Amino acid sequence: MNKKENILIIGAGLCGSLLALRLAQRGYQVEVYESRPDLRTTDISAGRSINLALSDRGLKALRLAGVEEKAKEICIPMYGRLMHDRQGNTFASNYSGRAGEYINSISRGDLNGILLTEAEKHENVNIHFNNKCLDVDVERKTVAFESYQTKKQFTINADVIFGTDGAGSSLRKSYEKQFSDFKVSQEFLTHGYKELEILADAKGTHRISKDHLHIWPRGDYMLIALPNMDGSFTVTLFLGHEEGEYNFKELASEEHIKDFFKKQFPDALTLIPNILEEFENNPTGRLGTVKCVPWYYKGNTILMGDAAHAVVPFYGQGMNASFEDVVVLDRVLDQYESDESDWGKIFSAYQKARKQDADAIGYLAVENYAEMRDHVANPVFKEKRKIEMDLEKTFPTEYFSKYSLVTFNEDIGYHEAMTKGRAQDKALLSMVEGNEVSTSLEMSKEELTVVLKRVQEETGKMLK
Ligand SMILES: Cc1cc2nc3c(=O)[nH]c(=O)nc-3n(C[C@H](O)[C@H](O)[C@H](O)COP(=O)(O)OP(=O)(O)OC[C@H]3O[C@@H](n4cnc5c(N)ncnc54)[C@H](O)[C@@H]3O)c2cc1C
Repeated sequence: MNKKENILIIGAGLCGSLLALRLAQRGYQVEVYESRPDLRTTDISAGRSINLALSDRGLKALRLAGVEEKAKEICIPMYGRLMHDRQGNTFASNYSGRAGEYINSISRGDLNGILLTEAEKHENVNIHFNNKCLDVDVERKTVAFESYQTKKQFTINADVIFGTDGAGSSLRKSYEKQFSDFKVSQEFLTHGYKELEILADAKGTHRISKDHLHIWPRGDYMLIALPNMDGSFTVTLFLGHEEGEYNFKELASEEHIKDFFKKQFPDALTLIPNILEEFENNPTGRLGTVKCVPWYYKGNTILMGDAAHAVVPFYGQGMNASFEDVVVLDRVLDQYESDESDWGKIFSAYQKARKQDADAIGYLAVENYAEMRDHVANPVFKEKRKIEMDLEKTFPTEYFSKYSLVTFNEDIGYHEAMTKGRAQDKALLSMVEGNEVSTSLEMSKEELTVVLKRVQEETGKMLK
């Protein structure tokens, strides 16, 4: 049942390859153009985050396309954060008080590979690697490419063009050139990131707990580590480019780098013997939020994934949100089943359903940086988190913290999760700060019931 439209997708990253798979399942003819070589046969991980946190929104999207189980085979569950202080002491904080709620560490390359392989199993999908999109002529529905192999430029026509080419999207740049009403903002943090590695031990096992996302919170900066299947950890240092007591610009000599790690992350330093080599060889990445509107023009072209709404990585939701885009588009396509060739209508309905949620995860992600690098080690925050865990454990169907609403409640939008979660946070924090509740003694169910009711009442008032 091939549908008449020829779909062209620019970018076979996480979003583009899942989109290709889903559109192929729906019967479209799909041509995908990717600037890089095929990552299943070439090592192109340098400079990219090697593993990612996959959670319920992303899993829902993978389920829709029938690839959830395959992805789960390469997932490592992380049940909570494990914080490391300067003395090497650790304390754990679960992600949820409910059993069975956790996030997953997954290899970006392996997950992308699964999606490409599944997409290619459909005879109505062709993936063309090593072809970089240069420009899109929206009016004419033509896309200009350059082949890395032949160095020649060529043009392809399509009925509908999807730009899933990431934060630096070529389609978005074409919109900027062609449409005066196109609005785009790209805000970079003053902090950047660098990836390092903790190698597996001699037996190939993890040197620190693989059941946690490790955080070394240091106020203005932090180190995090996520486990890999081969026993290693991908470590990421988030630090100011030029600002702060320590920053990337000043960490220019071997002495400075060693001294910084010795003072701030001594336990991590013992696990990264090649620190100097890695620090010098691995690039420093920028972190930014992209917002733009409209995402589509003329019923011919649309932006999805990071191309439409790149976010900073502190909620672990960029990929999840990009996958969720495919779920939302699929739902809209279901609604327009009888009118499936009216892409103007489809794109308009999609943007209406999605924009507010994409904006919300952009705000939440920036907010969560302060939580991860600083608040997690703050006594008031720790107390609030303990009460949230107790509430979730005691009232599993009635209380969901902001983190749970964002991460484990895939059937509500990010915007709803943000507004409800923020109101709850405010209510709980004011109770903790006003010494109205304390976890110095275990709270009884009756006491927790009082807290729950108060939080619900205050939240209700704030959301009116
Ligand atoms: C340090 C870091 C950590 C992160 N951690 C998490 C996490 O834990 N959880 C999470 O959910 N998200 C995380 N993210 C976010 C996540 O990486 C992105 O949201 C996700 O990759 C978006 O997928 P995408 O397909 O839209 O874009 P991309 O993954 O960037 O894919 C875009 C694709 O388009 C190709 N392309 C680019 N330009 C062109 C062109 N001109 N022509 C043809 N092809 C082109 C690229 O080669 C690439 O394959 C993290 C991001 C960073 C930077």
